[in-house]
Amino acid sequence: MKDEILTYWEMCGRQGMALQRGMYFKNAPSHGVILMSRRRNAPYADEMSEDESILIYEGHDVRRNSETPDPKVIDQPFFETNDKPSQNGLFAGAVKNFKGNGADAAIFRTYEKMRPGVWTDRGLYRLVDFSYQQDGPRKVFKFWMESAGFDSTSAQESSEINMVVSRQIPSWVKQLVYKRDKGKCVICDAVDQLHFDHEFPFSKGGTSVLPENVRILCARHNLEKAAKIE
Ligand SMILES: [Zn+2]
Repeated sequence: MKDEILTYWEMCGRQGMALQRGMYFKNAPSHGVILMSRRRNAPYADEMSEDESILIYEGHDVRRNSETPDPKVIDQPFFETNDKPSQNGLFAGAVKNFKGNGADAAIFRTYEKMRPGVWTDRGLYRLVDFSYQQDGPRKVFKFWMESAGFDSTSAQESSEINMVVSRQIPSWVKQLVYKRDKGKCVICDAVDQLHFDHEFPFSKGGTSVLPENVRILCARHNLEKAAKIE
């Protein structure tokens, strides 16, 4: 639902993946994903028109590493170090296809950061133009996006279907849960014989696709819990 408030984990659940960067390009008709922020300390200068019909989304910097300790003084890249297009390059390429070749505009589900760990769904935006412009010492991408409303047949529905039919924990959930629980049993800190556990049992309607319902238990605590349920 548009403007719905979501935790970071719920947002990942909607998209069915661990969202760990801001830009996820996908070719139409699939939807990509963008994460944006207008918070004062946001890493990028994203802007929206007052009626939210237009989003000006800033491209992303080179990755910080020992050779580039300050990405903010370096031109935002078209290419990765392996010469593949960066997300910026993929977005820019989609605009060229849209304007030059009459391709469908790329569409992105857009989430805005409200507070740390708290996001809101801004619906869908179509990518229609971009510029690569001087900004202080370097060049940045500005992607021009127009509101494309909100569709209800989204990742949410498919994840709800998965919730019903599958007790299998998807790998993106395992990845996030492992990181959150620091690779240890959440009860005793054991680091061996670990299992991913449905906190609210799958057999009683617990879901596999929300990381909130999955945790790490050691074999002993896993068995103890099973004994209690029966
Ligand atoms: Zn334990």
